[in-house]
This record gives sequence, structure tokens and C-alpha cells, in this order.
Amino acid sequence: MSLSSENGPHAIDAAQLDHDVIVIGAGMSGMYLIYRLRELGLRVRVFEAGTGVGGTWYWNRYPGARFDSESYSYGYSFSQEVLDEWDWSEHFSSQPEIERYLNFVADKFDLRRDIQFSARVQSATYDDDDGCWNIVLEDGSLHRSRFVVTALGPLSAPTMPRFEGMADFQGPSFHTGLWPKEPISFEGKRVAVIGTGASGVQAIQEIAKTAEHLTVFQRRPNWCTPLNNGPIGGAEMEEIRAGYPELFQRCRETAACFVHTIDPRGTFEVTDEERTAFWESLYAGRGFGIWQGNFRDILTDAAANKMISDFVADKIRGRVNDPETAELLIPKDHGFGTRRVPQETHYFEVYNQPNVELISMLETPIERITSTGLSTTDADYEFDIIIYATGFDAVTGSFDRIDITGAEGRKLKEEWQGGPTSFVGVMVQGFPNMFMVMGPHAALGNNPRSIEYNVEWVQRLIGYMSGRDLTVASATPEAVEAWTGFVRQKAEGLLSNEIDSWMTGVNMNVEGKQTRTLVRYSGSAPEYREWCDKVADQGYQELTLS
Ligand code: NAP
Repeated sequence: MSLSSENGPHAIDAAQLDHDVIVIGAGMSGMYLIYRLRELGLRVRVFEAGTGVGGTWYWNRYPGARFDSESYSYGYSFSQEVLDEWDWSEHFSSQPEIERYLNFVADKFDLRRDIQFSARVQSATYDDDDGCWNIVLEDGSLHRSRFVVTALGPLSAPTMPRFEGMADFQGPSFHTGLWPKEPISFEGKRVAVIGTGASGVQAIQEIAKTAEHLTVFQRRPNWCTPLNNGPIGGAEMEEIRAGYPELFQRCRETAACFVHTIDPRGTFEVTDEERTAFWESLYAGRGFGIWQGNFRDILTDAAANKMISDFVADKIRGRVNDPETAELLIPKDHGFGTRRVPQETHYFEVYNQPNVELISMLETPIERITSTGLSTTDADYEFDIIIYATGFDAVTGSFDRIDITGAEGRKLKEEWQGGPTSFVGVMVQGFPNMFMVMGPHAALGNNPRSIEYNVEWVQRLIGYMSGRDLTVASATPEAVEAWTGFVRQKAEGLLSNEIDSWMTGVNMNVEGKQTRTLVRYSGSAPEYREWCDKVADQGYQELTLS
């Protein structure tokens, strides 16, 4: 830590500020921030655009939305009472249950009293003279605080495609990430779903159950593997509860905080029979095992990756009756696991149903949306409902939507043009007292595990400062450069970083995001935490504290 007197003497008195900490977003990060920052005796205010808690699990209420992580590995781990009192009903619970869970947590700790709902933050500006943040909401109101913590989530800025005529469509249309609260019936309806990422896959398999006719518009197919969900009975829940300490310990040790542990063997170090038997068991197993618990080299060695890709392709061929449709559903432009693997429940069998049709936009792209449906280069289609499962302006998109100005008038959006930089994904050079939970270059994966870690790190830093009458924290350029270098180094050799996806910062629907940038830390979570722990243990030498 270096001490500077530049800002200290000017720092405004806390009593003149509306709050000590303003948090943006009341998802899992924002909720936990309230809990932890209250422990420091701080006045916390959370501004949330929605009318309820839950963030991702509040907005993404599309049919079929559910966990892709085991429910019990995803919930908060910090409260024994919550662990004791909450029962999960499925290994991968659905959105309504998840939203109920998050409301249960909000009730239990009386979190809502510190949250202002329907409050979208428009701008956040650092005041160099007073050493505080000015937060302006869409209603024009101004709120001042010493610290601002962004709890925006890496996938919370939905993006629409840019087809001509989108405003012409006369029927209802929805983005999966902005799904309405009222139930939508698909019975007797002709429905279009555009997009086949994790959201599209979950929605398609559910909508296909009731729609009169469902047309899926797929651009690039993804490698989808079975979720193998199932109910959790009372006795099983008690077993899970008894095993929570070991479960969370395992999540602390794995690379991306999932329960699945990478197999130390290489793909070619076993016999053909052993390999096939292992992959069969993973394909029949729960969740991300086949992605996160596979041989150590499938995501780094092209030949190993080709083998597992061939295995999954054969599974798809075995499940889809029409060979041409099967081939359309098999990715040809990227290997298994190099983009986020959507998890499915009878997804491929949906294409055997007479009411479901698959259109490849690689062969016949959509040309325009019309008043009654849409036109591709090949045909005109009529629909009652159009669903856009077209993804998010990931990682930096939610920051770009707020006008964030740091010290000396720096604009965050401009600073991050060409790719974000940060110190451990929590601080940005030139943006004093702004902390990010799950910011760019923090550890992603089974996110709540990293959310809890990030929040506790921020709590510790603010606690450290409060205890020493320090009011301003900034990351030094050297610290940001060192962390960014480490992130760059960790990205090397991973096949996923050679592929276009939200994980490499590409979104064709967003201006300026057509080429790959380093938006993601792809090292392991244990390495991430080791780095961050060291910073805190050694008294924040990478920061300027004044
Ligand atoms: P996504 O993975 O980015 O998928 C978007 C889909 O829309 C892709 O198929 C994409 O095609 C297509 N698309 C976008 N713009 C298009 C255009 N202009 N024309 C044609 N097609 C277009 O988004 P997502 O499915 O919402 O998932 C995003 C992430 O959210 C996931 O990777 C995951 O991390 C998270 N998620 C998690 C869960 C869960 O845990 N349960 C569920 C859903 C989502 P291309 O691939 O060709 O671009």
C-alpha cells in the first residue's frame, strides 16, 4: 500500500453523503453485498432496475429456464441457517424455485429495506474534489456515496439482432432475458425461436411441448449435452445437507467452482474401451461432468478435442431421426466445449416431433421481420409469437449501458474500448472507490462461489480502510498491468479462446464487438483466489490508499 495525501484532506465528511456504499444491482451479488457491508456498520443502498430481487433469475423467466449447475452447489454457502432451512426439489431447479429461494434469502435477512426497486442507474460520476461518487437514476434523482460497487452480472444486457423490419411485427415478441411476468401460452400458436445458445435450447424444448408449430432459426449450432436432471427426495436432501461442507470444499478446489473435477488422465493415455466407457458414463451423468470433469486435455489438445467432439456428434446422430437435420445440429466450426455447452433435456428429440422444424440460417439467413412473421432468403413464414434467444452484450455490456466517469473525467466505456482491463476484476485504474463483483477478468464459472469470494474481498478491503480512516482506494497502473498480463498468460493454449463467442467478447449485434478481445479470465479459481488473498494479506501494496 502506498499512502498519498492528494485526496485525503479533501474527502467529504461521511455525514454529508447519502450513503456509505451504493450498490448497483440486486442479484445474488448485490444481495450478499448488503449482508456483508451491514456487518461493517455501513449505510448501504442498492439500486435495482427490476421490481424484485434475483438479477439473472428475476429477468430470465422464460419457459424452461433452470440451473445448469447442481442446485445445492449454486445456492449461497455463507449462512448455515439458509443451508439448514432450504430444500431444493430438483438437482437442477427451475427459475420459479430459484426466484422463491432468493426471495427467501431476502426475507430472512430483511435485505429489501436497503434496496430501491424500479431504480435504473443512468450515470455514476466520481467527484475528484470531494472523493465521492454521484449516482444519478433514470428519474433524475442524485445519490452520493463514498463507494460504489457494481453488481451487474456478466450476462445481463440482452441484445437483439439487427434485422430489418423488427418493429413491423404485429404479434408479441420477447427476448428470453427480458421475459414478462404474465404467463405466455403457446397452445395453438405458431412460434419462432431465433437463437440456439443455452437460453434458446432450454426454451425450445419447453415450448415444443405445447406450441401448435415451432420453427427454430439456428445460426451456428452448439454442442449440447444431457442435463440428466431429477427430483430430490426428502432423504436425499438430508444427505446433501449433511455433505454441504465437503461439497463447498470441492467447489473451492475445482478450476471453475463446479462440483465436477477434471480427470488427470490424458485422452490418449487410456485404451479405446476405457475412453468410451468413461465418456458414456459422463454422457449419462448429471450436469457439466462431460465438460468440466473430462480428461485434462480435451479443451487444450486439438486431437483430444476432435475425439470427444466425434463422440458427442455420434450421440446427436443417434437421437435425431432425420440424418439431414442431425447434421445441421452438429457444430462444424468449433470443437466440443470451446463455447459454453448448453445442457438439454430431450432437446434433440424435439426435432423428431411433427410440430417442430429447424431452419439453418447459415443456409437461408433471415432477411427481414415482417408484420406477420419473417422472410428468409428462401421463404416467407407466418408466426403468432417471435422469441429472440439472441444472448447478451456480455461482461462489459452492462457497464457500457451506464455512463460511468472516473477521476479526471475518464469514461469507462472509452477506457475499455478494445477490451477491458482491471485489477483482479474488482478495480479499474482511474476509477477510485469503484469495486466490481464479477467484473471483467474476475473468475467466472459456477458464479455464486466466486460472487461470495468477491464480495468478501471487497468487504475486507472496505473494512481495512474504515479501520484506518482511509477514504480513497485506487488500483495502481502497475497492478492492473500485472493482473492483465496474468490473464493474458492464462488465456494461452485454450481452444475456447480461438473461437468467437461471448466468452471471447464477440457479439455481432453490438457495434464495436465484432472481433475477439480478452474479456474473460480463463485461469483457475483457486489461482485467482490465491492472488487476491495475497494482496489482502500483504496490506494492499497494489493499491494507492489515502
Ligand atoms: P448465446 O449463447 O450468446 O446464444 C445466442 C444465440 O442467438 C446463438 O445461437 C446466436 O447464434 C444467436 N444469434 C444472436 N444474434 C443473432 C442474429 N443476429 N442472427 C441469428 N442468430 C443470432 O446467448 P444465451 O443462449 O442467452 O446464453 C448466454 C449465456 O448465458 C450462456 O452461455 C450461459 O453462460 C448463460 N446461460 C446460463 C443458463 C443456465 O445456467 N441455466 C441458461 C441460459 C444462459 P451464433 O452462435 O451464430 O452467434
